[in-house]
Parts: sequence; structure tokens; C-alpha cells
Amino acid sequence: MARINENYLKLPGSYLFSEVGKRRRAYIEAHPDAEVISLGIGDVTLPLTPSAVAALHRGADEMGRAETFRGYGPEQGYMFLREAVAGTDFAARGIGVEPDEIFISDGAKSDTGNIGDIFDAANKVAVCDPVYPVYVDTNAMAGRAGNYDSATGRWDRLIYIPGTEANGFVPGAPDLYGESAPDMIYLCFPNNPTGTVADRAGLKAWVDYALRIGAVLLFDAAYEAYITDPDIPHSIYEIPGADECAIEFRSFSKNAGFTGLRCSYTVVPKKLKVGGVSLNSLWNRRHSTKFNGTPYIVQLAAASVYSPEGREQTAALVGAYLENAGIIRRGLEEAGYKVWGGINSPYVWLKTADGMSSWDFFDYLLTELNIVGTPGSGFGPAGEGYFRLTGFGSRENTLRAVERIRNGRI
Ligand code: PLP
Repeated sequence: MARINENYLKLPGSYLFSEVGKRRRAYIEAHPDAEVISLGIGDVTLPLTPSAVAALHRGADEMGRAETFRGYGPEQGYMFLREAVAGTDFAARGIGVEPDEIFISDGAKSDTGNIGDIFDAANKVAVCDPVYPVYVDTNAMAGRAGNYDSATGRWDRLIYIPGTEANGFVPGAPDLYGESAPDMIYLCFPNNPTGTVADRAGLKAWVDYALRIGAVLLFDAAYEAYITDPDIPHSIYEIPGADECAIEFRSFSKNAGFTGLRCSYTVVPKKLKVGGVSLNSLWNRRHSTKFNGTPYIVQLAAASVYSPEGREQTAALVGAYLENAGIIRRGLEEAGYKVWGGINSPYVWLKTADGMSSWDFFDYLLTELNIVGTPGSGFGPAGEGYFRLTGFGSRENTLRAVERIRNGRI
């Protein structure tokens, strides 16, 4: 008799965005004339760049001619893209990453979720709190998170490293060694949901800690393109020793608007070994067994991001979202809110007014100002009392929403 993976039954429902949608719909039904603005979205809204669109057309034409048609490609990605990534994202920053350390994929969500395949189910996992929920849920599915306690919102086998006002929502390495030390540590900078970044010293402390305890850092740099501060590292591999303890995830979703097109990559350095086994070989085995390659035309579009026009056009997309985030951040500050993020990130994280819970603040924004955002508590217990707004809306809506916040009314 077949048995299911019972770990799936332990997962709480995907409460956050369904509850946001439910409350939003109920409000609009009761107030059909309300002009509700959403600053809650984590999806991009601007169209693809002209260079990506031209590459897609070119690829489609090639696929339609017998002489240039392509079937299955290399599972790890075409060399033209892996070389462009190695040259521009790494060599140009003085980082030595070889094309065969780069695995092209269909999303950082897939890869941050699937990376657990190459790790033992008994590994202890540490996550920052608040956190991108994929790291938690995929480890719960694999049985590494233990059991969920709805009263505390925590899994009993996960190690939570809280982001707090005291640490500026940039959690540092915990004081855990020996038996209690984590084996796998998820980090995300620039961070979703808090919009904060780790500086060189902060990242070095994480790398030194991982090397000391023999843990692997799973470094999610999906928002790397939003880093504006020249002192903030773009890659974990800017830190000496990281190529012996870290895997890095990147995505074309938030820089080039590929959320609907799907392309990303994961770097697994050849020097990274666990128990003498190369994680590059393991991931290569996993990726080529369970994945059959990102579509050729999508990889052409991703490669176009590295052309001179592509880089300019992509920078304009990121710049537009960053400007929105800056408008939100300044508007909130002027209205007296305490805020984080919005400088090297499209996300702005704020402390709710008058000590309101995250959900009470959601209801206040929706009903009083007709603005939808995302309650911080949905990203983990340490997010309670905080709230996320994003720069991914249109400029017009961003300005209108900020005006409402400043005035405290619609
Ligand atoms: N990592 C983080 C931190 C994210 O916020 C997101 C998307 O919101 C992703 C990964 C997913 O990226 P992709 O579209 O490449 O799957």
C-alpha cells in the first residue's frame, strides 16, 4: 500500500497571501467604490526589456527553422549563458567562479527549495526570522523541521535566528557550537522581507562561523541587483573562504523582470566539500537527473541581460523600483514610522503604529487608507509588530499611497 510523505500533513496552510487576498476581496465587495492600492506584491510589474524581447524573437525564429532548431539542451545550461554570468557577475568583480560551477535553472524558488535533496534529512537547519517561507516549508517537507507548533508559529527542529530592531534586522551568527550547531544555514541578502543588507564584516562573520562548525551557507542573492551602496558585497564569494562553505542563488526575476519567463542560476563551487564529497558533483547529478534545462529562448533572453543595452535597460527597471521604494521609505519616515530597507532593496519594512499587531495594522491600512501590504508576522514570529511594503507597484499608485499615509487618510 502506498504511503504519502506525512511531513506534508504537518505544513500549516499557506495562510499569509490567501488571508491577505480574502480580507482585500471582502473589503472591496463591501466598498465597491474604494480605490484600493496594493503595495504588498513581491512580483514585478514593468514589462521585459527590449533586448530580452528581441532575444526571445530571435530564439523563436531559430527554433522554427530546421537548420537552427534545438531540442534538449545541456541540463546545466548553455555555455553562452554560463560564461556571460561568470564574466559579468563574478570575474568583473574580481571573483573567480568558473562556468562549470554555475547551474542555470528555472527559478531561485526551485533551487532554494530543491537544494535540500543533496543534504541528509538529519541535518540541523537554521533560518533567520522573519524569513522567505520557502526555506522553512521545503525543509519541513523533507522532515528536517520536526513538528509545527501553531501557538508559537515555530517548527521544533529548526533553529531560528531572529532579526530584531537591536540587530537592525541583520541577524548575526548564533552562539551555537558542538551538538547544538546548525549544519545548513539559509541567509538572504538583500533580505526579503526586511529589505536589509549585510555588510562585509557581517558576511565575514557568517563565513567564519560556517567554516568553524562545518556548516554550509545557502546564500540567496535574488535581490543582488538592488544593492546601491558600493561597500555592500554583491556575492558571498567576495568573502575569503566562502567558496569552501557557501552555495549562492541568483535570479533573473527581480532584475530583468523574468518572474513569468523563469530563469535563475545557482553557484556550487568545486572547492565546496562535505565529508570529502564535492557538492558540485552532487548538485550536478541531482540537477541533470531531475531537471531537463531552462528553455533555449529563455536562456538567450537571460544572456541579453549582459549585453551593453541589456545592462542599461535592466538597470533602468531596477532603478524604477528602487525609486518607488525610496518614495515609500521617505513617506513613512515623514509620517513618523520607523523603517528599514528600501535603499538596497525593493522592500520597505516598518514598525506598525501604536504597537499594533501586524494583522491589526493590515486592517487599519486597508480600511482607513485603502492600501494593501503584507503583515510581517506572516514571515515568522519575529515579524510580529512589523509590516512589509514593496516598490514593485506603479509610480502613480506608489505616490498616491504615500500621500494617503502622510495625510493619515484617503
Ligand atoms: N528568493 C527570494 C528571497 C525571493 O523573495 C524570491 C521571490 O520572491 C525568490 C527567491 C524566487 O525567485 P524566482 O522567481 O527566481 O523563483
